[in-house]
Amino acid sequence: MIHLVLLGPPGAGKGTQAERLAAHYGLEHLSTGAMFRHHIGRQTRLGRLAKGYMDKGRLVPDELTTDMLKEAVSRHVDVKGFVFDGFPRTLAQASALDDFLDQSGACVLKALSLEVADADLLARLRKRAREGARIDDSDERVIRDRIAAYYEKRAPLVGYYRGRDKLESIDGTGSIDAISAHLIRIVDRALPC
Ligand code: AMP
Repeated sequence: MIHLVLLGPPGAGKGTQAERLAAHYGLEHLSTGAMFRHHIGRQTRLGRLAKGYMDKGRLVPDELTTDMLKEAVSRHVDVKGFVFDGFPRTLAQASALDDFLDQSGACVLKALSLEVADADLLARLRKRAREGARIDDSDERVIRDRIAAYYEKRAPLVGYYRGRDKLESIDGTGSIDAISAHLIRIVDRALPC
């Protein structure tokens, strides 16, 4: 099994790159943000709970997020692995993911951290808002709060993976193809031969 984690602030390109990695390696792409948006669309209890946090640019509590993620992983049988996009976002989530994967003798192969300067993130998120792709990109204050929420939790999260020799920081600016190629080179090197 190959399990990859994509880290990075909102607008860093995690979704795009996660999709490409999943296609390249034949993995399942799991985005907790997309799962929450799906729940909100269906007006489930979880969706209503999550919306309260997402509308303010805050993180949904760890337990709700982790339970939802585990449930999604468990629904996929006979897969080669997962690309986790936007999960984990906190140290508690990273540790819960490791414990969960460990139950089936698996682990995270690499945590790929996309680094993009705040000014570029804001420009990308404003563009995404103009294109109408994401409702949570339309409020400038919420965008800034989401970026702040990421950096508030980033240091211990990155430290967790660095300490386990899993962290790879990648410049998330430049062409989408060049970034994908860079990520694939890193993952290829990490794959068992
Ligand atoms: P994303 O699509 O990854 O940008 O996530 C959109 C929003 O969903 C975030 O701003 C959070 O409010 C929530 N969210 C997504 N993933 C997580 C997570 N791992 N932990 C907590 N909240 C999350």
